[in-house]
Amino acid sequence: MEAKDIVAIYPELFREEEREYPVEEYGLGVGRGWYSILADLVREVREIDEARGTRSMLVQVKEKFGGLRFYLQDTTNDHWEAISRAESRSLETCEDCGAPGRMYNDGWVSTLCRDDARKRWERRPERKADLAWERCWRHDVVNNSEPAQEN
Ligand SMILES: [Zn+2]
Repeated sequence: MEAKDIVAIYPELFREEEREYPVEEYGLGVGRGWYSILADLVREVREIDEARGTRSMLVQVKEKFGGLRFYLQDTTNDHWEAISRAESRSLETCEDCGAPGRMYNDGWVSTLCRDDARKRWERRPERKADLAWERCWRHDVVNNSEPAQEN
């Protein structure tokens, strides 16, 4: 799935006045592993809007503290519920590949599967000395109720 496929689900959501959100240029602000979560969310927002006869406008999509953030103008309770479900899913989904993931923290918190977490850690050789892999991957203080895994 490409970013443009998500835009195609509800193009009006990404359009501000006559200016389209330049998805080819900027992408969607999060990794491809979350694209199916985003697609479901955009579909839900469209359905909510269709039922209400309104049109939402997307303000921003990004990753923060390892979770998806999705900001709309004029958010209703229905929107909040859909967004909240998507954010919860993102905290269990690798942002890079879409596999089951959990918190990885090398100073920047991300939600990743073990393989992608390892790749990120290895791309940071300058940090290896003072930031052990076990500490980055076993950092499960903030995120959800999942018990520490032995990997
Ligand atoms: Zn992954």
